[in-house]
Amino acid sequence: MLKFDFHIHSSYSFDSILDPAKILEISSRKGLDGIAVTDHNSIRGGLETRDLNRSSLVVMVGSEIRTEWGDVVCVFLEKEIITRKFLEVVDEVRKQKGIMILAHPFWKHTLSEELLSNIDLVEAFNSRISPKLNSKGEKLALERDLPQVAGSDAHLPWEIGKGITGFEVSSLPLDLKQMILMEKRNLIKVQSNPVDVLITQGIKMLRKRGILQQK
Ligand SMILES: [Zn+2]
Repeated sequence: MLKFDFHIHSSYSFDSILDPAKILEISSRKGLDGIAVTDHNSIRGGLETRDLNRSSLVVMVGSEIRTEWGDVVCVFLEKEIITRKFLEVVDEVRKQKGIMILAHPFWKHTLSEELLSNIDLVEAFNSRISPKLNSKGEKLALERDLPQVAGSDAHLPWEIGKGITGFEVSSLPLDLKQMILMEKRNLIKVQSNPVDVLITQGIKMLRKRGILQQK
């Protein structure tokens, strides 16, 4: 089984303290095979993590974009997503041959048909989201017949790898996107501690006041 965490924030996000080098070190130590670095509205963290990577770990460059319908995690990006309008985000991602993931579907979303008919994958487990809301997300994925992924939504070192998508293959295929979209999978779910969300809010506040530097 290949283990992927599809949702990690680096210190390029205003609310994370995870340096790209640290992300790589922890991901390897935890035996992950792939990660997506998905900073809020930026791919810089993903690019830096990929550049620094010297191991066999797959680093997908991504970004979590806040649109009018809610957050979408876009992966396999090479250029920044400029717009925040959902349909335009879809266009930009498709032009880059990227993949669209509906992040935590029942947290600050309006689940419009426009949104649901344009996404490739549903984040059916996010470590920071309550079990109740995650199970609603899982149900939505089943109803819409969309493949599921899990992600930790890590903002802190110990959160990496708490949400894992385990693909039932023995080695990395040539066509990684096809595996992500088509291959059978199991989600490995470890709930984050609610205190971690409070710590993140503390980081945000310190950054706002200029006490803590941001990349
Ligand atoms: Zn996130």
